[in-house]
Amino acid sequence: MNADDFKARFEKLRRDYVATLDERVLEIESLCNSLGEPTKRMNVLTALGHRSHNLAGSGATYGFSEVSDVARQLEQFATLYLAQPDNVNAESISDSQRLCGALHEAVKAGGPVPLADFPSIRQATAEDNDEFKLIYLVGDDIDLMGKLELQLSRFGYSVRVFHTVTQLRDALTLTLPGAIVMDVAFPEDPLGGPNFIGKICQRVRHHPPVIFMSERADLESRLEAVRSGGIAYLKKPFGAGHLVDELDRLFSDESREPHRALLVDDSPSFNSYFSLVLEQAGVEGEIVSDPIHVLDTIRTFRPELILLDMYMPRCSGVELAQVIRQVEDFVSIPIVFLSTETNLGKQLSAMQFGADDFLVKPIEPVHLIASIKSRVERYRALRTMMVRDSLTGLLNHTALKEQLDNQLARVQREHQLLAFVMIDLDHFKKVNDTYGHAAGDRVIRGLARMLRQRLRKSDAVGRYGGEEFAAVLPAATADQARQIMEEIREDFANLKFISNDVEFSATFSCGIATFPGFSDAVELSIAADEALYRAKDQGRNCIVLATI
Ligand code: GH3
Ligand code: MG
Ligand code: MG
Repeated sequence: MNADDFKARFEKLRRDYVATLDERVLEIESLCNSLGEPTKRMNVLTALGHRSHNLAGSGATYGFSEVSDVARQLEQFATLYLAQPDNVNAESISDSQRLCGALHEAVKAGGPVPLADFPSIRQATAEDNDEFKLIYLVGDDIDLMGKLELQLSRFGYSVRVFHTVTQLRDALTLTLPGAIVMDVAFPEDPLGGPNFIGKICQRVRHHPPVIFMSERADLESRLEAVRSGGIAYLKKPFGAGHLVDELDRLFSDESREPHRALLVDDSPSFNSYFSLVLEQAGVEGEIVSDPIHVLDTIRTFRPELILLDMYMPRCSGVELAQVIRQVEDFVSIPIVFLSTETNLGKQLSAMQFGADDFLVKPIEPVHLIASIKSRVERYRALRTMMVRDSLTGLLNHTALKEQLDNQLARVQREHQLLAFVMIDLDHFKKVNDTYGHAAGDRVIRGLARMLRQRLRKSDAVGRYGGEEFAAVLPAATADQARQIMEEIREDFANLKFISNDVEFSATFSCGIATFPGFSDAVELSIAADEALYRAKDQGRNCIVLATI
């Protein structure tokens, strides 16, 4: 969707909203007029509170900030007298009617909303893959650049080396790489790298991510790197593997997956505005307008951020935040309140119950998107530390078990199949003893990389223990699982590793068990493990299917 499309669709939403405005104000007015009847008063005040609250939230979004202000006063009026309904008298009723008059005026005065400069973020697609794996490597140390180039190309990156900032600038005018890896210091300027990147940042909005390298570890140099937009900082000397890790992370499917945000809000007009803004920014959004469904939706949609409206008819945002926090699996998902509440005291007390932040409606699209993105990034970084194995980046043991449980529950529901695969490197002790532990680590990472690349995105791959791996392949038959593992086994056996100029290769054995033949996680694990054991027994470097 381009910016014009966005404007057109926003205009339509605004027109729809305007069309309902008069009616909504009249409803509020008639509520105020029936405040005189004591028997109905509580219901009337409650309804008045809800209606004016919703109006306050959506008004400013569509360019009617005056409407929002007056509606907010009406909401406060309702809140005040809900606590003391017997104090409603002729004077307070005429106060409320005066506010209704002001509301009519505000509707007439409202104008089209000035749309802020709207970020249009390009989503990477599968075809971008090759372009994205192009790395510009920039530094005046010819030796080091040569070594890094060789290493990176071994890991599937195409690399172009530049020794000066001028060369980099010329190249950037022709082709943008997937990432720039650059020295901080250059002979002519000790902060040449950040200074140059800072300059392009001012000119182009979306430049490639930059990783800086430096001998210096002091704060000044790191600060300059961060300020110019560097996403990582490697202190020299560093192993090439370290750089590969950073790049792998940058290019991983996960980091390119769209961010997922869930909104729980009962106001339809805010909801359509919200989905439009998210869609434009490439964020995947899901909306729940009835809080009763929220737990199911969290489970299926797996949001990386939950935005909660504070006041909803069935329950409050604060209550909902507490409920979500009491589910162990959801404890770490960031929660942000999104409300017209401007009272700082109320905001803070709402946050005691497990929310992370408070955003005040109306919120500019650019700010909404920025705060969603930064929170999701942070959440991803924390989750990576919690669920990923640091050597391979694969899921750790606990996380993989969790995946097995989750996927099993899903395929059971959907009457699907599932294969559980266990893998163990052959004679790995000997690999370590012969070529050294560091070479052994490279073999482990090589296999991890291959598994990740060759299995499907929907498959879960984990490091189960030292030199053991496991994978969960949903919807795979025994034959399909065996076939893909057979291909990986063959390719892995042909992969060459190098240690001190000596070439060597490694192999693995594999056991596979499938659902529904084996009916739960425990049975599957035992059966796959036994099959693996038999594969070892049969001479290793082979695959065995568990039989019932
Ligand atoms: P088998 O074919 O029967 O599996 O023989 P094996 O030598 O692979 O099996 P064993 O379980 O006896 O030894 C596993 C070895 O894996 C021992 C351990 O030092 C090594 N290992 C475990 N974790 C790591 C690791 O993170 N890095 C390295 N380099 N080696 C590891
Ligand atoms: Mg073992
Ligand atoms: Mg082994």
